[in-house]
Amino acid sequence: MAKTKGVKRTYSFGSGRAEGNKDMKELLGGKGAGLAEMSNNGIPVPAGFTITTEACTEFYAAGKRMPRGLEQEMHDALSRVESLTGKGFGDAGNPLLVSVRSGARVSMPGMMDTVLNLGLNDRTVEGLARRSGNDRFAWDSYRRFCAMFGDVVLGMKPERKEDRDPFEELLEAKKKTLGVKVDSELSVKALRELVAEFKAEIRARRKLEFPDDPFEQLRMAVSAVFRSWDNDRADAYRKLNGIPSDWGTAVTIQSMVFGNLGEDSGTGVAFTRNAATGENEFYGEFLVNAQGEDVVAGTRTPQKIGEMEARWPEMARQLEEVRTRLERHYRDMQDIEFTIERGRLYVLQTRTGKRTGLAAVRIAVEMADEKIISREEAVLRVEPESLNHVLRPIFDIAAKEAAIRAGRLLARGLPAGPGAACGRVVLFAEDAVAWKARGETVILARHETSPEDIRGMDAAAGFLTAFGGMTSHAALVARQMGKVAVVGCPVLSFDYQARTMTVATDQGPRVVREGDWISVDGLLGEVIEGKIPTQSSEVVGVLIDKTVKPAAAAMYRLFTRLLGWADGVRRLKVRANADQPDQARTAIAFGAQGIGLCRTEHMFFGEGKIGPMREMIVAENEAERRTALAKLLPLQREDFAGLFRAMGSRPVTIRTIDPPLHEFLPQDPAGQEELARATGRTLAQVQARIAELVESNPMLGNRGCRLGISYPEITEMQARAIFEAACEVAAEGVKPQPEVMIPLVGHWKELANQAKLVHEVAARVFAERKRKVKYSVGTMIEVPRGALTAGEIARTAEFFSFGTNDLTQTTFGISRDDVGTVLNAYVQKEIYSVDPFVTIDRDGVGVLMKIAIAAGRATRPGMKIGICGEHGGDPNSVEFCDALGLDYVSCSPYRLPIARLAAAQAVLKRRISERAMAKKPARKKPAKRRVVPR
Ligand code: PEP
Ligand code: MG
Repeated sequence: MAKTKGVKRTYSFGSGRAEGNKDMKELLGGKGAGLAEMSNNGIPVPAGFTITTEACTEFYAAGKRMPRGLEQEMHDALSRVESLTGKGFGDAGNPLLVSVRSGARVSMPGMMDTVLNLGLNDRTVEGLARRSGNDRFAWDSYRRFCAMFGDVVLGMKPERKEDRDPFEELLEAKKKTLGVKVDSELSVKALRELVAEFKAEIRARRKLEFPDDPFEQLRMAVSAVFRSWDNDRADAYRKLNGIPSDWGTAVTIQSMVFGNLGEDSGTGVAFTRNAATGENEFYGEFLVNAQGEDVVAGTRTPQKIGEMEARWPEMARQLEEVRTRLERHYRDMQDIEFTIERGRLYVLQTRTGKRTGLAAVRIAVEMADEKIISREEAVLRVEPESLNHVLRPIFDIAAKEAAIRAGRLLARGLPAGPGAACGRVVLFAEDAVAWKARGETVILARHETSPEDIRGMDAAAGFLTAFGGMTSHAALVARQMGKVAVVGCPVLSFDYQARTMTVATDQGPRVVREGDWISVDGLLGEVIEGKIPTQSSEVVGVLIDKTVKPAAAAMYRLFTRLLGWADGVRRLKVRANADQPDQARTAIAFGAQGIGLCRTEHMFFGEGKIGPMREMIVAENEAERRTALAKLLPLQREDFAGLFRAMGSRPVTIRTIDPPLHEFLPQDPAGQEELARATGRTLAQVQARIAELVESNPMLGNRGCRLGISYPEITEMQARAIFEAACEVAAEGVKPQPEVMIPLVGHWKELANQAKLVHEVAARVFAERKRKVKYSVGTMIEVPRGALTAGEIARTAEFFSFGTNDLTQTTFGISRDDVGTVLNAYVQKEIYSVDPFVTIDRDGVGVLMKIAIAAGRATRPGMKIGICGEHGGDPNSVEFCDALGLDYVSCSPYRLPIARLAAAQAVLKRRISERAMAKKPARKKPAKRRVVPR
């Protein structure tokens, strides 16, 4: 690929200055932008430079070859690092060593590759030994570098879990021969031998000499990091997190600082606030005389940040100052990596800290209270989906106490991912995936987890590990995925062959086998044998179960304040999809302003209703059907009255029957015989009717308004039940607002037919009851023809509600019932970037929605339009609905808080982009590509 003249591919930083800044994440990756910004702000970062994500994209475009011109730029940038550090790359007297790290626009923890201590060879290692005065340290760094280079750059890392790392094997063999237990007991001589053995292994396996030239090492490492963007685990992570594959990764090359130079050195990671609870406390851990990878790998249990004060008071003070500066500067909780080299503090990385949903809410509200951010920013800070964490179950306290009293507490560890999970133990990530696929709930228990386990972690309800701290891999991933996790339980040991986990207890070892049930409390860090029932979250305890008093529920109060701020901003109303009075009450507690969809067919499965319903279906003529419907009428009336009472004067959209009738009939012979007995028919007659109702594609068969048109008496009965119930509760002093909704309309005459029936019944009921109730009749827009002819339909329809479940299936021509296999393959192959049944397909379904809204409101100005498909609770879709100008979104009750927050964020994001547009000066010429500012 030809060099694009003038394109700048490297950005330097260090010594209080940088070419980049925090707004350049797209180009420099999160890490590169963070280092540049810190450097600009006088935070002590080791000098270095970042190669852009664009260079990575060029690398792939050129068939995985380094873009021409990049090497020269790397040479130039390295010279700057040399002059800032006073060291020389490859200089045996005073060698500069660098780290080479990946860094995408968004953090992909542990998914891509890193090489440390690069620049070492047989000469520079001697220089390092002399400068550090520590031979052992120099040779230990060299052997680590050889192994890392072999694994990462030369592809010698084992691919399967069962395989051993070749360098680990050599290390183990050496220790065995010398009779030593831990690495630190190896002598300089042994380390020298290991370096030679590692190089020989590389020669044998890869047929090449270990590169001695530091620049050659660097060139190979940069190319390996570029390639790691495309490795399997990064690919899986991107798919899980919706990260486009064409972003590419930046590469940061930075001078090494060493936390393993002795007792005055160390390394650590810290969050500026507690990432699990959100509490305003400095929260992290450090290891004395160690390198960063020791902390992240979780193979040594670190000390708490609070303990630093006693050991290194001056360092603790400086670190505290860095904490305050970073948080004030970024106005958000930061996750920092630091190293102390011989009493000097360096910050290696800062990024916005990942946090649990609980912590997100607390940090946002408290930062607004502390005036670090505005309330609007607080609303924008919380991922709507993460509210799930706040609404998540915890263990039934009494049952858990009883289990502990009964001696079932197996272990205590660190509470890394809050919530309660109960499942069957599996020891391998692959098993977690397979067991989940067959319907099991599993807990993935391992000595430690690594990025290779990502798919299994996604499949598991919770994780349990023996090693590692609150910032180990398992802990970070748990918080990000919202999984329950307990990590760092040292009493656990694993026998992967025997598929057992042994717990060392005071009473002796207890063996937990694969498949045994365990319960994991991610709030308290407890692991309990067997199953424990879960109970609702604190918020649910206050709002729904009414078992917790608001005064005793701090999280509930934070949650309510945040949602209160969101409600003050949002334009969209929120309604719930609910069919039962208790669901309606839950919905109101979560902020529903009405019911957007009552699926009446759900009511027929309730007490005493399925019998007459089936009788109605097997009836052979209208008279028989009416007899059965007469039995259903009082039951339906009670259903509707219950809903109206629960909802008071809020609107309640009731949809007439929708699914094809066969769904209500018994499929088993016993049920069919019972139906025959109950209806006075022979089994053969019942089976013949069932056979008659079978449809090969029921989703497109006799369902929706087609049923009401085939059997008008069903619509009549439902309309009568609605209006009689409305009159009944109106007489009690409630002012119900029924909205009768006809499903699956594709032609205006379908709606006209059904609406006429409904209006006639209403008039009759009002005359009989001598009372009138305000109501409206509308339709669902859920087939493409309905959307395309919405202008005609709106002559009859007083409101529209988008049934985006059906609209998606009919627009794509994919059956929503059996889409699973196709969809997985399509998402895998990135034909669909997301599942269109989860997030509205804006380019297809969305266009139909736009057409329907414009046409509907052209006929009926100001027409009320909402959405009641599952998308009504999906944040991305809510944002789209806001932009379309819908009046409300309707979703399941527990998603209402998510919808409220998403609706507020939609408004705030629009305001921000409008402000940005207003600020942007009008451009005459097209934008130029970035050029080198010389
Ligand atoms: C829809 O189709 O989006 C809808 C809400 O109706 P149902 O899911 O009941 O078909
Ligand atoms: Mg539908």
